[in-house]
Amino acid sequence: MIVLKFGGTSVQNAEMMDATLTIAAGQIQRAPVVVSSAMSKVTDQLQEIAQLVGEGKESEAERIRAAIQERHMTCAKSFLTGENLARCLADLTAVLSEMQSIMKALAMLKEWSKRSNDTVLSFGERLSTVILAHRAHERGIDADLIDSRDVIKTDDSFTAAVPLEDLTQKLVTARVRPRPGTMAILQGFIASTTGGATTTLGRGGSDYSATIIGAALRAEEVQIWTDVTGIMTSDPRIVKNARTIEKMSYREAAELAYFGAKVIHPSTIQPAVNLGIPVWVKNTFKPAEEGTRIVPSIPGIGLKAIACKKGITLVSVSSSRMLLAYGFLRRIFEIFEKYQTAVDLIATSEVSVSVTIDNAAAVESIARDLSEIGTVGVENDKGIVCLVGQDLWKDTAFLARVFSSLKGTPVRMISLGASDINLSLVVPTDKMEESVRNLHQEFFP
Ligand code: ADP
Ligand code: ASP
Ligand code: MG
Repeated sequence: MIVLKFGGTSVQNAEMMDATLTIAAGQIQRAPVVVSSAMSKVTDQLQEIAQLVGEGKESEAERIRAAIQERHMTCAKSFLTGENLARCLADLTAVLSEMQSIMKALAMLKEWSKRSNDTVLSFGERLSTVILAHRAHERGIDADLIDSRDVIKTDDSFTAAVPLEDLTQKLVTARVRPRPGTMAILQGFIASTTGGATTTLGRGGSDYSATIIGAALRAEEVQIWTDVTGIMTSDPRIVKNARTIEKMSYREAAELAYFGAKVIHPSTIQPAVNLGIPVWVKNTFKPAEEGTRIVPSIPGIGLKAIACKKGITLVSVSSSRMLLAYGFLRRIFEIFEKYQTAVDLIATSEVSVSVTIDNAAAVESIARDLSEIGTVGVENDKGIVCLVGQDLWKDTAFLARVFSSLKGTPVRMISLGASDINLSLVVPTDKMEESVRNLHQEFFP
């Protein structure tokens, strides 16, 4: 069996939903399990709703809800008829009125917690998959709509929930029964706790849903269908002549995703690793193009792609007492741990340590605690430029080429060698995209 995940633009309207179903139906003998995102932009709108109701701005939130309702109803009416249309509208209405009740309750309580946020955000995928399933029936496809919240179980870290592997595996295999000639349809992104509270896997998490389900079902392969042809040498929105990478390793793909390549969610690869399931990234708009195949490992050295991520904060601590002393690093990292802040890059000298974080919510408290160890500096508005490829350091000309392309850019921090597939550079945010373009020009002219 295979898993096919379709992103927001792949189900953005009736025409694209049909394109999606055509792609999945074309592989119906491989027992496809379809995992779908919300229609494009809907999750952003739901995010706005969650915030507005939390602030008690019910009527503003209601306007957005009505727009979401209108878009889904219009889409359904445009390609469904008779019984299929009637059933679809009834199902959409049920989901939409549940949403309305929840919004009312949250507005009354003025509640905007991570928990309520996840419940509100879940409606996008719940709505899109209802239409997809009814359209599949209309087209004569034998399709079964399954609620992902019944099969993917997570802990209660709302907004970034962690799957409970064993339980999920059991539930997925019991409930999703892929068979050649039939199609299962599930929502990406959403899951639930063992107590039944709705959770999400984090923004962009539908890719992760696909590999979680793929691993549970021992899929032959997982296909991520999106709006670009595979993983490219850089984000095509930043670099116009970025090109598709034919093949890359799990580690390269995971590293790229972590450092900003939005094309796949950073956790996507992890469930595929143990079973060695190949992951394809393909273009719903150009289905004939091959896309990228991500495999356990591939031979060869050299740069594959350049990613970038903004919103980075650099925190540094320096103290002459660090010289020849031990225990400093432990004390420093304990402080980040205390405030549950993940550290991305690290650079150290005898008397100083610099780290980057992408969640600066607790940076003031962190700086206050760190100031007991040494002098603390906090620099905002940084971006990370990340070059990914196997054994980059083995190419002796590599670094020289990197730095000559970055002439004129104040590179604030460098990290190479921690992993043998990544060179990361910290630059000012306003220089980040230009740096990516310059590097791309040098390595992929
Ligand atoms: P979906 O809704 O299908 O999940 P996303 O918007 O999450 O789609 O991801 C696809 C987008 O990722 C592309 O439109 C592209 O702008 C962006 N992207 C960033 N880096 C890369 C890259 N290296 N290769 C391809 N796309 C990238
Ligand atoms: N719809 C969710 C989001 O926009 C999940 C996804 O599309 O992957 O974040
Ligand atoms: Mg995505």
